[in-house]
Amino acid sequence: MSENKKIWLASPHMGGGEWRFVKEAFDTNWIAPIGPHIHIFEEELSKISNGKNVAALSSGTSAIHLALILLGIKKNDDIICASFTFSASANPIKYLGANPIFIDSEKDSWNMCPALMEQAINDGITDNKKPKAIVLVHLYGMPAKLDEIMRIADNYDIPVIEDAAEALGSKYNNKQLGTFGKIGIYSFNGNKIITTSGGGALVCDDAEIINKAKFLATQARDEAPHYEHSQIGYNYRMSNVCAAIGVGQLEVLNDRIIRKREIYNFYKTELSGIKEIAFLDESVGSFSNYWLTTILIDENSAIDREQLRLHLENDNIESRPLWKPMHLQPVFKSCKAYVNGFSLDLFNRGLCLPSGTNMTKKDLERVVNKIKELYEA
Ligand SMILES: *Cc1c(COP(=O)(O)O)cnc(C)c1O
Repeated sequence: MSENKKIWLASPHMGGGEWRFVKEAFDTNWIAPIGPHIHIFEEELSKISNGKNVAALSSGTSAIHLALILLGIKKNDDIICASFTFSASANPIKYLGANPIFIDSEKDSWNMCPALMEQAINDGITDNKKPKAIVLVHLYGMPAKLDEIMRIADNYDIPVIEDAAEALGSKYNNKQLGTFGKIGIYSFNGNKIITTSGGGALVCDDAEIINKAKFLATQARDEAPHYEHSQIGYNYRMSNVCAAIGVGQLEVLNDRIIRKREIYNFYKTELSGIKEIAFLDESVGSFSNYWLTTILIDENSAIDREQLRLHLENDNIESRPLWKPMHLQPVFKSCKAYVNGFSLDLFNRGLCLPSGTNMTKKDLERVVNKIKELYEA
C-alpha cells in the first residue's frame, strides 16, 4: 500500500462559517431536535428550493419514509422506483410493507427510463393495481428526463417523490431539482455536496403536508399538556446542532457546485486522450451539480473497471463502482422489475472518481496521472 495521503471519494468540506453557528447553538444551549437554527436552515433551504415549504429531518432516508407515509402508502401498495440508485431510495417502501417495482435506466441521464415506467404503470392498471407513487432519482446530480416522467405521472395521476439526495444545486430548465414532484427530498449525509454530518429534508408546496411531516417526525404528539398520541410517530427531526452546521454549509453551496463542475471538467479534459474512458454530459436543459464525476470504461478496453479501481486503491485513492441496480440486489430479488440491461452495463463498466471539493490541484493531478499510467502504459 502506498504511503501517499489518502484521497477520499468525497469527504465533508466545511466552509469555515459553520463553527460560528454551532457555537451560537452551544451558547444558547439549543442542543436538541428543536431550536432556532432548524428554522433558519429551513428558510434558507426554501429559498433555494423554489420557495417550497421545508421540514428538516434526521436523514434523507427518513424523508423518503415520511414522504411515502404522507402520500398514504400502505401495505401491499405498488410503488415505482428507479432501479439504478442507492438502496435508501427503495428501503422505505419496504418499511411500509409496500412493493417496489424497479425500473431500469435510459442512456441520456442514466436515470429512470420513461418508456419502461409507462409500461409498468399500464401493466399495473391492467391488473387492477395502479402504482400509488413514483420514486424518481437524479443520480450523481444528473437530472432525470423530467419532461417525460412528469407528463406520464400527471397523465396517470400518480404522485412523484423526487429523490434529490444527490442533486441539491442541480437544475432542469433553470429550476432546482426536488421541486418538480409532489414531494422532494434532500440528504445532508457526510459525503453529499453539503452536509450537516447527517440529515435530510422534505420539501413540498403544500404547507399542510410539511406540518404533518414535522408532527410525525416528532413522535406525533397531539396538542395537550400531557403526552397524547392518536397516531404512530417517529423520531426523525433534525438536531439543532446539525442544522447550525447546515446554515453554514448553505452559505458555500454555490462555491461547492462551481468546484464540483470544475473537477468534472478537469477530469474530462485531462483524460480526453484515453479513448477507453467516456463521460456523461448534460443534455439540453440539464444543469448537474456533478456531485461525483463518473466515467464509463469501454467494453472493449483491455483494462476493465475493477482493474482501474484496484490500481487507484493501491495508491491510496478511493474510487467506487457505480451503484449496483436494486433489481440485482439479493434483498430485492423477489420484486418486480422492468429491465433493459442498461443499469447492469453501467454497474459493470462505471466508476466514480474522487470528487471532493476539498481536493487540491495536486490531488486531482495525482488521480489523473495514476489513471494515465495504466491506460497509456
Ligand atoms: C444518500 C442518499 C439517500 C439517503 O440519504 P441519507 O441522508 O443517507 O439517509 C437516498 N437516496 C440517494 C440517491 C442517496 O444518494
